[in-house]
Amino acid sequence: MLVQQIPVRNALRNYMYLLACENTRQAIAIDPLDHELCLKTAADLGWEIKLVANTHHHHDHIGGNGPVIEATGARLVAHAQATDAIPNVDQGLNAGENLDCGDLSLRVMDTPGHTMSHICLYFEGSDDADPALFCGDTLFNAGVGRCDIGGAPKIMFQTFQEQFFPLGDSVRVFPGHDYIENNLGFTLDREAGNKAAFELKEKFTRGLNAESFVSTIGLEREINVFFRLDQDEVRRGVASSLNLNFRDLDSEKTFIGLRRLRDSW
Ligand SMILES: [Zn+2]
Repeated sequence: MLVQQIPVRNALRNYMYLLACENTRQAIAIDPLDHELCLKTAADLGWEIKLVANTHHHHDHIGGNGPVIEATGARLVAHAQATDAIPNVDQGLNAGENLDCGDLSLRVMDTPGHTMSHICLYFEGSDDADPALFCGDTLFNAGVGRCDIGGAPKIMFQTFQEQFFPLGDSVRVFPGHDYIENNLGFTLDREAGNKAAFELKEKFTRGLNAESFVSTIGLEREINVFFRLDQDEVRRGVASSLNLNFRDLDSEKTFIGLRRLRDSW
């Protein structure tokens, strides 16, 4: 699989993705918001967009569908339950199905939480490429998506618990927005002594480009406080900030508490 991560550089700092089969150069465009930039990037690379895939129905993910499809004749795919909210979906996707493009095959994951009908696409890896997760607005680098615009934190926790926490450390993480620097600040606010988060934040301060930085699940386990639910310091912070009893906190309550704190952080 060939991957091109494309920063939109809008206020919301969206990322679009082009994934291509190296044999056929046929490509999937994920959430191609800036259609001109998406089409130009594909043309420059010599890739032919055959599919447009939306992770979920929010406008900053589907807003470029029309012109990309008009220019390429691509088919539009999205969560089977999002076909009312997203115009002109050609094929609804369900958990466990494969999305094929040329010789490239991705597995569809049903990942509610940010919205109730949200998919992630998973590439299981090959001889020359590590596995990869295209996770829209569920998992961000060093953070998670908000749940107050059609989602639910309890459901998002289930998605993380059942589908993200078990992933291998080598899985590359490709989220729908670039929020890493801000999110590292939130992690450090919860865990002042988190060395990995501190060192990475320093690297960005010294000029590391967030736009071309790709994290992994292994790194998320260190720098993303939503992966660190059993840490004493994290739980104590949630308990004292939200006036909860420390002994009542389990992973789920800690996750929900963190999401609440992040909403007003
Ligand atoms: Zn969204």
